[in-house]
Amino acid sequence: MQCALCKQNFEKLENSHIIPSFVTKWLKKTSRGSGYLRDGYDPTRRIQDSETKKLLCKKCEEKLSNYEGYFAERVFKPLLDKKNKKFMYNEKVEYFIVSLAWRFLEDNLISYEYTASINNEINNKLTKFYGVKEYFRKLLNEKKQDDRYTCCIQLIKNTKDYSKELLGVKAYISRVIDITLLFETNTIYIKLPNIFILLTVGSKVKMYNELECYYNKPIYMNNKFKDKTLLYSRIHYLYNEHLSKIPETEWNRIDYDILKNKYKVLHKSNR
Ligand SMILES: [Zn+2]
Repeated sequence: MQCALCKQNFEKLENSHIIPSFVTKWLKKTSRGSGYLRDGYDPTRRIQDSETKKLLCKKCEEKLSNYEGYFAERVFKPLLDKKNKKFMYNEKVEYFIVSLAWRFLEDNLISYEYTASINNEINNKLTKFYGVKEYFRKLLNEKKQDDRYTCCIQLIKNTKDYSKELLGVKAYISRVIDITLLFETNTIYIKLPNIFILLTVGSKVKMYNELECYYNKPIYMNNKFKDKTLLYSRIHYLYNEHLSKIPETEWNRIDYDILKNKYKVLHKSNR
């Protein structure tokens, strides 16, 4: 079997989590409800853990685990458990984000093929994302860097302002894991509890300029979302597609949902 990262053959591969397990563990630990996760495709179904895939050899799995461990202990847990107000962006954080995006592309790009086959413009951009996947793979192997992508991060507290405007905003901000491709801006959108990451390939998105990450630049917890349109369109979409399947009687008890958007694409010309 071939390791997806180093491309060498091995007798067996490790079970890799596509969604980092420290996030799902944290969600379970801090649950006030059932202690189960929900499946993004069918939120009425409760699941034990995020899915794993035989993707990497032992060595590559260990390498990515190191980035993951750093992010979990130095960024994620201090922000969410100890209520730290900021963290410092650095190479390890960057590699964790790239590895998460790479794993998502490795696992999900194929599911966008159908949409691409009926839409030329998306097809072109999908081809680009295949290139990005390969670029990220090389980056994770050889640690070479250039400026082919920009990383923007927003840390958002749970604020009361949002909840009046749209159902599920608070739950979305604090409990939902959501990873998808934004074809309009060549962006990989990664949403973890209270952490929003936009990894844009090629030309930068002007709107996110001030959110751009640089090494040794602190990133602060904020209570205003820079681009509410994006936030609301995701929540609206997920609510209509997925969350509305949850019986209303269960809404108060919803603690977390794993929501991954595989088949639908946010794209204006699709409307
Ligand atoms: Zn490997």
